[in-house]
Amino acid sequence: MMKRVFVASVALFSVAGLVAFQQQYEKGDLGFDDTPMLPGQPWRVHDLNRPRPRKVTAPAACDKPVPPPSDAVVLFDGKDLSKWVQSRRGRTVEPRWKVENGYIQIVPHTGDLISKEKFGTAQYHIEWQIPKDVQGRSQSRGNSGVLLMSRYEIQVLDVYDNLTYADGGAGAIYGQWPPLVNPARAPGEWQTYDIIFEAPKFENDKLVKPAYVTVLFNGVVVHHHKEIIGRMAYRQVGTYAPHGPEEPLMLQDHNQPVRYRNIWVRRLGDYDQK
Ligand code: MG
Repeated sequence: MMKRVFVASVALFSVAGLVAFQQQYEKGDLGFDDTPMLPGQPWRVHDLNRPRPRKVTAPAACDKPVPPPSDAVVLFDGKDLSKWVQSRRGRTVEPRWKVENGYIQIVPHTGDLISKEKFGTAQYHIEWQIPKDVQGRSQSRGNSGVLLMSRYEIQVLDVYDNLTYADGGAGAIYGQWPPLVNPARAPGEWQTYDIIFEAPKFENDKLVKPAYVTVLFNGVVVHHHKEIIGRMAYRQVGTYAPHGPEEPLMLQDHNQPVRYRNIWVRRLGDYDQK
């Protein structure tokens, strides 16, 4: 009798433990309810309950990259990584991401890819692809990111059929604003970001104008002149710290094999200039 009670208790405890573990896992995986509130928003950073953006079917992908305009600074044209370095544990090293078949593929755990040239206020064109055989879920499924000025992240992630927290999906200003809608294509298809970015302005180390960003994701507007709250942060509200008017463009190594191609930048001048 005692033995039966013992076995039943262990079984009950195990089921309860499993449910608790599952709930905790879901919470950490799909968002949080213990992170700080975002300034001026009714949501927390990576809010578990924030609505996920509505899905939109984007126009079909182009097989070949569309050539850049004549005044673009081309950072990757399918051939080599001569315009880039990599950052590994605070050291600058030669790039170790792979170039094959006209694209770059992240080699996990080798560090972020960083442009040698610096940029600020500019038009950025970046194409990316989550490989067809992508594994994992939520933030562990094709995670990378485009970090403007090495700080302000437009998230890259498979969100075609993958649930994650709203401000952490592809096209999100990571940890701040989800995209207006979700026009993501399936893994194995090329996707495009066209980003118009206004760099923040500092005077004597004080922020006098925040950064603003407009993002077209697969040709669909997902941010329209949106104010950026601060630099990319996980489970915290990102803040600003002074930096130069131009800083390197950075592609994030989040330890998953995401691909990039056709990367170019056009600095935005003023009107009436030759
Ligand atoms: Mg990322």
